[in-house]
Amino acid sequence: MNAPLPLKITQEVAAHAYDDVAHVSNEVAGRLAARLAAETQGEVLFSGADRGRYATDASIYQVMPVGVFVPRDAADVKTALDICRDLQVPIVPRGGGTSQCGQTVGAGLVIDYAKHVRNILNVDAEARTAEVEPGIVLDHLNAALKPHGLWYPVDVSTSAQATLGGMAGNNSCGSRSIAYGNMVHNVLGATAWRSDGSLLELGRYDAATGPARQLGDYVKALSDQLRPELAAHWPKVLRRVAGYNLDIFNNQNEKPYTSDGSVNLSHLLIGSEGTLALTKSLKLRLSELPRTKVLGVVNFPTFYQAMDSAQHIVKLGDGTLTAVELVDRTMIELSLQNPAFAPTVRTALIGQPDAILLVEFSGNSKAELTPKIKQLVELMGELGLPGSVVEMMDDTPQKNLWEVRKAGLNIMMSLKGDGKPVSFIEDCAVPLVHLAEYTDALTQVFRKYGSKGTWYAHASVGTLHVRPILDMRREGASKMRAIAEEASELVRHYKGAYSGEHGDGLCRGEWIGWQFGAKINDAFAQIKDYLDPINLLSPARIVNPPKMDDTRLMRFAPSYKVIPIKTALDWSAWNVQNDPVTEQTSAPGSGGDPAQGFAKAVEMCNNNGTCRKFDAGTMCPSYRVTRDEKHLTRGRANTLRLALSGQLEGIKAEDAFTSDAVQEALDLCVGCKGCKRDCPTGVDMAKMKVEFLHHYKGKHGYTLKDKLVAHLPDYAHWASRLAPLLNLRDKIPGLALLSEKMMGFSAKRTLPQWQTQTFFNSGAVSASREEVLAAAKPVVLFVDTFNGYFESGNASSALKVLQAAGYTVHVATKTVADGKSLCCGRTYLASGMVDQAKAKASELVAALLPFAEKGIAIVGLEPSCLLTMRDEMLVMGLGDAAQTISGQALLLEEFLAREAAAGQLETLKSRLKPTSQPILLHGHCHQKAFGAVSPIIDVLKLIPGAQPELIESSCCGMAGSFGYEASHYEVSMQMAELSLLPAVRQQPDAIVVADGTSCRHQIRDGAQREAVHVAVLLARQLQD
Ligand SMILES: Cc1cc2nc3c(=O)[nH]c(=O)nc-3n(C[C@H](O)[C@H](O)[C@H](O)COP(=O)(O)OP(=O)(O)OC[C@H]3O[C@@H](n4cnc5c(N)ncnc54)[C@H](O)[C@@H]3O)c2cc1C
Ligand code: SF4
Ligand code: SF4
Repeated sequence: MNAPLPLKITQEVAAHAYDDVAHVSNEVAGRLAARLAAETQGEVLFSGADRGRYATDASIYQVMPVGVFVPRDAADVKTALDICRDLQVPIVPRGGGTSQCGQTVGAGLVIDYAKHVRNILNVDAEARTAEVEPGIVLDHLNAALKPHGLWYPVDVSTSAQATLGGMAGNNSCGSRSIAYGNMVHNVLGATAWRSDGSLLELGRYDAATGPARQLGDYVKALSDQLRPELAAHWPKVLRRVAGYNLDIFNNQNEKPYTSDGSVNLSHLLIGSEGTLALTKSLKLRLSELPRTKVLGVVNFPTFYQAMDSAQHIVKLGDGTLTAVELVDRTMIELSLQNPAFAPTVRTALIGQPDAILLVEFSGNSKAELTPKIKQLVELMGELGLPGSVVEMMDDTPQKNLWEVRKAGLNIMMSLKGDGKPVSFIEDCAVPLVHLAEYTDALTQVFRKYGSKGTWYAHASVGTLHVRPILDMRREGASKMRAIAEEASELVRHYKGAYSGEHGDGLCRGEWIGWQFGAKINDAFAQIKDYLDPINLLSPARIVNPPKMDDTRLMRFAPSYKVIPIKTALDWSAWNVQNDPVTEQTSAPGSGGDPAQGFAKAVEMCNNNGTCRKFDAGTMCPSYRVTRDEKHLTRGRANTLRLALSGQLEGIKAEDAFTSDAVQEALDLCVGCKGCKRDCPTGVDMAKMKVEFLHHYKGKHGYTLKDKLVAHLPDYAHWASRLAPLLNLRDKIPGLALLSEKMMGFSAKRTLPQWQTQTFFNSGAVSASREEVLAAAKPVVLFVDTFNGYFESGNASSALKVLQAAGYTVHVATKTVADGKSLCCGRTYLASGMVDQAKAKASELVAALLPFAEKGIAIVGLEPSCLLTMRDEMLVMGLGDAAQTISGQALLLEEFLAREAAAGQLETLKSRLKPTSQPILLHGHCHQKAFGAVSPIIDVLKLIPGAQPELIESSCCGMAGSFGYEASHYEVSMQMAELSLLPAVRQQPDAIVVADGTSCRHQIRDGAQREAVHVAVLLARQLQD
């Protein structure tokens, strides 16, 4: 039982697939895996870890699938469908897996469309239509449509992850649904397979023939029979997404599904959550991209007034009103605490409002829209709130504020501790006239159950998101049911829709019968039976759903247990509990985590899938090149969570954390810290990988390569003396290959070249410890191993620049000289040697503390080394001293930018020669993670004439030793080719600035260009 399943079952090993899978799962799973491998081109993922990674979505649920299939193309989907039908294995289709109600978790074969089945089949700009495969992500589609001046306007918050197939499955709705409607309003046709394998082509009913016509006739008859029930029970709001769209024949929606009153049969599939057919393609109705927008931010003294005003605000605009979105006090405060969001939020506030409404108008020109904002201002005056509107006419502040609003849910989810905001009544839709009373009443309900809700989102259409904080490991499930029951009564009282945006899934299915009544519920069952009589497609959803509070289906069931481990790093900041009402967290270390806070840090991943994004930002380079769930921050966090809780199937609980399954998931994590910055709940996989490697390597041993990389700072001083000999590796043919075979360094790479003359033996003149402590303009320069031994010119340049700027510079040295230089411990951390890293860091702390205590800046050159002082060194148990040093540790550019802003660099500025050469800047991942990229731009701008341009790049792919390793070479180059290398090649005349030593190496290897450290460029520009 301990042998993990094969990583990927390919066609070559299809013959063994049956035995392997049947051995740990069962006979049917074995046959399924074998047939999928033999008969398709897709990826067949049946290991415990793979299935575990697909057992969850952004909901509270977890159900282990039989297996996972990643089809190469539509034909593979059809074959998989046929095999599943033969073997009677249910199918759960999946896009980005960002559903909040458990739509994509189920005990069948999960088919992941998002990796390959994502082509744009056709764009007809004139007719404003597009035909797409279901796996395409909305933002990717919209990027392709932009040159046509078009977009697909169902702008869900998850636009960077959500696939069109998933959006259709859930009948998703965007912030601008008041203007554009929901998914159902914007789909013109679909092709989809029924479970019998036949392909339905669905479009206008009046033009339908054959099976499509028969389906239409069948549903029409059901709908017509139920006219009185539809009139009595069907919610008459825009935002009703529950059940099947039986009302296509007898419209009940505020906004009819078609503009000409026709019936479109594809609308039957919209919102059907994969239960009726597998979508092959979708024909979409596109809209013209709004030429311009203006935003009025209304500040309200009370939440009630905000809710009460929505009904009046929506009457403004004459068709130009595109959004009215709520942000409440809690959300405002959480945003103000977030350094990335605070400046933006402040631009929207007048005093301390209890809530704000973002009121957007779109049209052809600002001039046309300005009167709309004036009308809004007048209206607020009439409603007794003069002076309450912040007018945002310019695009950039608007865009920034929308980003904060879009991050709303995720901002809330960053709460540490076991109590989490839980999604189950978060999108009930009520008519606007009742919005204020409804929200007020529901707030009382939360209070009754010892919880609190934070409100935000779509006030324009009466769909406000709210998630009470519940602890699902304890009494959360029962409280959830109690609150759901009271909330449903309120929804009924106000004639709203219980499921108004996020779908039914496992969470709301049982409320469908309650909402629509027995007869309509029966009709839903008949539609399901008509299209999928063998109940193959996502069974037990919409029809015959489970109880929402069935804890056997939950990710954090009361039975969830963490296996104790002793951690190498200090994770106590996560080991806390919280108060659901005040959201205050307990003292670090008091949370009761048997894994000393590490498990709770891992559990911060709520599966929202933001790490699947491809836009600007760093997270997550390994996903960007592989598109594999396994090589995604979410997949890694899930793998770790399952391992730490003994749920990795096929592996003994006590061996799971140090298993190869976890190693494989973390293998391509380059430790770029992109997730530390970009993950909304702060999942810091780079740090988690250090912890993991400490345990994994501790058990399985270190390779020669690991030791050579980690101990570099220890042997660099004598190795540099042997520079000519060691450099032969890249000069004598065959030696590189030998080093690949013996040590795993890729023969395709040159290694950093040793220098006999290093910075440390160059006789560079700098101030003594005593001199710097007494100096008027003191600074301490920390020269790391890389810049000291391999690229000593960088360190000399930094010294020169600082001295030219008038600083007394002391180059930090060990307190007790042993021939070695100071080291932050980075190379040891990267290999998981935490104890050795601590020893190095302790020496560094001892050497630097006297300066830090005097408030003297400690300046470094290599981002990953210097920033270790602000990150990992704080969780190595080095106490307050580490904290003191972290407060003074700055990258050279951060220091110079700070000093320039304080007017301290006038001398330096006067000595810098102008340049007219273009300058391209690549930010090191860790610089990005710590917001240290803009200081480089500021510093480069000190050079007269310099116009630095930042390359929008993710990780360069080298990431310390990662890219040098033979096993990672290809992936490393792919990461570099995503944007960095093409950008460098595009500007052959530009000076390329990159502060990371491995970034520079990657640029040299991939684009044959010499990038320079910012210190070198500044030194070059110095004139006497
Ligand atoms: C932070 C956050 C914010 C969100 N904001 C919004 C929002 O603003 N508006 C909104 O509407 N939703 C929102 N959601 C919910 C979710 O993101 C959307 O419903 C999204 O459209 C789902 O897309 P997906 O690709 O992840 O689909 P998935 O979750 O993978 O799938 C959704 C459904 O579609 C089915 N499906 C997928 N592909 C196919 C196919 N080829 N054939 C048949 N069925 C298929 C699945 O079985 C499932 O039932 C949010 C979720 C999160 C976590
Ligand atoms: S790692 Fe972060 S961004 Fe990715 S799914 Fe988890 S919480 Fe979301
Ligand atoms: S550290 Fe970088 S590579 Fe690793 S999971 Fe985070 S974003 Fe991805």
